[in-house]
Amino acid sequence: MLQNKLFEILSSASDDIYFYICDVKRDYSRWSKNTVADFGVPEYVYNNAAVWMEHIHPDDRETYRLDVQAVFEGKKNRHECEYRARNIKGEYVWLKCCGVMHYNENGEPVLFGGFMMRLDIHTSYDPVTHLRTANHESDWIRAILDSDQPAILMLVGVDAFRKIVNNYGYEFGNSVLFQIGQKLSALCSSLGEGCIAARFVKDEFLLILPGRTVEQAQEIFQQIKKLVQQVGAQGQTIDICVSAGAVRLPDDGRGYDTLVAKQEHALEYAKEHDRGGFCMYSAEIEQEHTRRIHLRNALAHSINNNFEGFELYFQPIVAKTSHRMTGCETLLRWKYGTEHGIRMDETIDELERSGYIKQVGEWVIDTCLQYLRRWQEREETFTVSVNVSAVQFRDAEFISRLIRKVHENGVDPRRLIVELTESATVENVDQLAGGFRELRDAGIRVSLDDFGTENSTLTLLRDLPVDEVKIDQSFILQLAPQHRVDLAIVESTIQLCNKLGVLVVVEGLETREAIDMVENYNITSMQGFYFARPMPVSEFEHHISKTYDLVN
Ligand code: C2E
Ligand code: MG
Ligand code: MG
Repeated sequence: MLQNKLFEILSSASDDIYFYICDVKRDYSRWSKNTVADFGVPEYVYNNAAVWMEHIHPDDRETYRLDVQAVFEGKKNRHECEYRARNIKGEYVWLKCCGVMHYNENGEPVLFGGFMMRLDIHTSYDPVTHLRTANHESDWIRAILDSDQPAILMLVGVDAFRKIVNNYGYEFGNSVLFQIGQKLSALCSSLGEGCIAARFVKDEFLLILPGRTVEQAQEIFQQIKKLVQQVGAQGQTIDICVSAGAVRLPDDGRGYDTLVAKQEHALEYAKEHDRGGFCMYSAEIEQEHTRRIHLRNALAHSINNNFEGFELYFQPIVAKTSHRMTGCETLLRWKYGTEHGIRMDETIDELERSGYIKQVGEWVIDTCLQYLRRWQEREETFTVSVNVSAVQFRDAEFISRLIRKVHENGVDPRRLIVELTESATVENVDQLAGGFRELRDAGIRVSLDDFGTENSTLTLLRDLPVDEVKIDQSFILQLAPQHRVDLAIVESTIQLCNKLGVLVVVEGLETREAIDMVENYNITSMQGFYFARPMPVSEFEHHISKTYDLVN
C-alpha cells in the first residue's frame, strides 16, 4: 500500500515540502526521501507517532498529540497544526503539518497521509509580489553575505510610490508592486544563476547580482528602468520611475545591518540628487547622510525646546502702481542653520523630509497670526502671506485648524494669504482643491508659489481654485531683453493669469532693469531685494506701509 507512485512523484517535486503516508491497520509509515535526509527519520517505520514525537519540541508535543488523536478517533477529518521539529543538525524548525484520513467502504480508516511545510521558508515569500522577502531573518540572504563571492547588491526603489497609492488606491499600488516584482524576477532569471530579486520593504526591491561589476550593475539598472517604465495594473497603465542604491560585496562590509544601511543611504542619495539614477555607496554618501542626521537632530532639539532659535522674517510686497508696501511674506529663519552655514531652503527640505514641517509650520502660523492681528489694526488692508508646503496640506485637519486659529486670534481672514510651496509633492489634487475651496469660503486667499518651476504647475492652475500666482524668481533673476525664453515664459504666464482673473505677484526683483520690464505687464505686486530684503520683525515694523522710491 505504501508503494504508491503518486506518493513518489509528489515527494520528489519539492525539496522543502515533506510527505508522509501511513498504513493505519499495520501502523506502518513511509516518509519522503527529503524527510529522511533532513530529519534523519527512517524511510519506513512502525509506530511513527512515537518516533516522530521524539523530534517534536517538548513544548509542542501536546498540540501535535491532541490533533492527531482527534483525527484517529474520527472526531476530526483533517490533521492541521504548527509545531517545531528538530532536524538532523539539531536545530528546531517551524513546520505546518497537514494530513487527511482515508476510509474504506466500511468506514474503517485505511490510509493516513499528508505533508509538512517549512514555515520559515514559506512565510519568507511576500504575498504581494510573490517574491522572496529580504530581511534580517532571511537565511538565504545571510548565506550570500557570509560567502566570499563578490556580488553587487542593488536596492531598487519606486519613486513617488505614495503618490500612486494616493491617486489610485492601496490595491492598485499592490498590483503595481506585483507587476514590477514579476518583471524583476524574469530579468534575474535571464541574468543567470545566483541572480535573485526579492521584496525588501515597502516600495523597495533587492537584487542580488553575483560576480557583476559596477558597470554591469549600472547597465542592468538601465534595463530595469526600461522594463518598468510603464506598468499596467487593473486595466490602467501608469508611468513608473525607479532609482537605485547599491553596495559591493565583500568590499563594503559583511554584516547584514551595515550593508542594508549603506544601501539605503545610497538609494536615499540617488532619490535626492539623481532621481531615476543609480548610485553606488561611497564615503561621500556616508558624509552626506551623517550631515543630514546632524541637521535633523539639531532641528529636533530646537523644536523640543519650544522652537528655540526659530524666528520669522518679513519681506515687503509692493503694489505695482504705487510702489507702496501693501503686504509682506513671512519667511522662516533658524539661528542654528545661519550659524552653521546651512541655507534656509536646505533646512526647509529637511523639515519636509522629516515631517517636522508640521510642527514648525504650526508655529509659523501661530506666530504670524499674532503679528497680523497687531498690524491689521494699524493698516486696514495690509496682507500677510505665509508659506505652506504640500506636505502640511496632507494633514486632513490642517485647514480647519488654520481657520479656527484665524478666528481665535481675531484676525480678518481677508488679510491672510496662504502660499502653496513644494507643489511638486502634491499627491492628491482633488483633496487639495477641496481644501482650497474651504479656505476661500472662509475668506482666506490662496496663492501658487514658485510658479513655472515644476512641470505640473499648469495642471495645478487648471485644477486648483487660486487667487494669486507668484512667478518663480528663477525666471525673474535673469530677466533682460536678451533672455528671450525667460521673457516669453513670464509674459505668457502673466497673460494666462490675466485671462483667468488670477492676480500675479513677481518676486526676485533685484534690479531696476527687471522692475522696468515687469512693470510693462499687467501684474499686481512686486517683491525682491531691490525694494527690501527679509527683515526681523523689530526692523520690519518701521517700514510697514512705506512707499518705495525707485532710484535711477
Ligand atoms: P519662497 O516662498 O519662494 O520665498 C522667497 C525666497 O526668495 C526667500 O528665500 C527670499 O529671501 C528670497 N528672495 C526674496 N527676494 C529675493 C531677490 O530679490 N533675490 C533673491 N535671490 N532672493 C530673493 P528664503 O527665505 O531662503 O526661503 C526659501 C524658501 O523656503 C521659500 O521660498 C519657501 O518656499 C520656503 N519657506 C520659507 N519660510 C517657510 C515657512 O515658514 N514654511 C514653509 N513651508 N516654507 C517656507
Ligand atoms: Mg513663498
Ligand atoms: Mg516663491
